Amino acid sequence: MRSVLHLVLHVAVPAAIAWIFFRERFVKAWLAMLAGLVVDVDHLFADPVYDPGRCSIGFHPLHRYPVIGVYALLAAWPRLRSFGIGLIVHMALDGIDCAWMSFES
Ligand SMILES: [Zn+2]
Repeated sequence: MRSVLHLVLHVAVPAAIAWIFFRERFVKAWLAMLAGLVVDVDHLFADPVYDPGRCSIGFHPLHRYPVIGVYALLAAWPRLRSFGIGLIVHMALDGIDCAWMSFES
C-alpha cells in the first residue's frame, strides 16, 4: 500500500507542480521532473536493490544531503529549473516515505 502510493506520488506531484507553475509548457516541465527519477539508479548499487522498509534518504549515494544541495543549485539555475525541482520533490517524497515508515514500525 505505502509503496504503491509512493510511486503514484512520484508521478502525480511533479504533474501537479508542472500544472501550477509551468502550465504553458506543462508536458516539457513534467517530463523534466520525471527525469529526476533517474537518481533512483543508485538503488541498483544497493543490496537488496529494492527494500520497501529501507529509508533511501542518506542511504543511497544520490540521496545524500550534499547531493541534495546540488539539486537545489540546479533548481536555482533557470535552464535546469524543472529538472532540479523534480529532484527536490523526489527527495521530499522519499523523505515523507521515511517518516511514514518510522510511524509504522
Ligand atoms: Zn528515490
